[in-house]
Amino acid sequence: MKAMVLHRPAPVEQKPLSYEDYDLREPGPGELLIKVISCGVCHSNLHMIEGDWVKYGVPAKLPIIPGHEVIGTVSMAGPGSLHREGDVVGLSPLYSSCGRCDYCITGNEHLCDSVQITGETVDGCYAEYIIAKDEYVYDVPGNLDLETSSPLFCPGVTAYRASKLASLGPGKDAYVIGIGGVGHVALQTVKLFGARAVAVSTSEAHARLAEEMGADEVVSTDREYSGLSERYGRADSVLVFSPSQKAIDTGLKLVKKGGTLVVGVFGDIHEFRFPTEITVRGSVIGPRKDMKEVLRLASDGKIRLKVTKFRLSEANEVLQRLKNGEIIGRAVLIP
Ligand SMILES: [Zn+2]
Ligand SMILES: [Zn+2]
Repeated sequence: MKAMVLHRPAPVEQKPLSYEDYDLREPGPGELLIKVISCGVCHSNLHMIEGDWVKYGVPAKLPIIPGHEVIGTVSMAGPGSLHREGDVVGLSPLYSSCGRCDYCITGNEHLCDSVQITGETVDGCYAEYIIAKDEYVYDVPGNLDLETSSPLFCPGVTAYRASKLASLGPGKDAYVIGIGGVGHVALQTVKLFGARAVAVSTSEAHARLAEEMGADEVVSTDREYSGLSERYGRADSVLVFSPSQKAIDTGLKLVKKGGTLVVGVFGDIHEFRFPTEITVRGSVIGPRKDMKEVLRLASDGKIRLKVTKFRLSEANEVLQRLKNGEIIGRAVLIP
């Protein structure tokens, strides 16, 4: 089968992914061979491919096929699988977990110490086929568009989980910093939890997207986020999805006393002011329960995605456009 393979992390300008034939093993017990219909292009793919996350042990192997938000059709089911050939399923970054530890048995399997991450510790979906674990795939609701709904499996669940953890509710307001793949969904999920959604955008195009996604207010700013709290005031909650230290620093300044800052990117918390009684918490993808809730919401038309389609072989160019801030919403690769 064909795949976009990473042999060595390098700046995306050097086109580090090569389109080549890749040997695929047969699915084992409890595994599925899935023919990929659509695979989302995530900012974390870019980090891994360029080598930014080598210090975190990512990628865990080389060569590796990146990609972790996928919809496809089961083309072969290993022994003991509940899914059958022809089933339409999706897979998130949560490839598998141990199933036995305290996290796993309390519905927080995404925090398992033995978690496997699709496209980071095992081969992902920048490919014609992917092997997945039967217990970690999801049935895709029949009314969803299969080519454009794969981003539900990363930005969808990530935005939903972060909103769930953000202490939102009626009468509260929330800033969403970073209106990319996750942020454009978070504007909607924040509202599903009853709060008012304020988009913080550093580009015209992303501000337009925020409006299109139903943001209650759109605040445009420069890349330094200068003077935001002075001009627009603080909010009960702030969700940060822009992968920059400045965004996190700004988020900390924009939280009201007693409020909640949810951070969905790597970075540091500087100048933490304990007398403000703020809560700072991380949020990463989500457990299977949250993923299922996202699929239900999308099927009910309560979560929409802005998606542009590309061919699988164009992955290097798509990543370059993502790096340049030229992707509006999410890009998906179609094999
Ligand atoms: Zn992702
Ligand atoms: Zn576990």
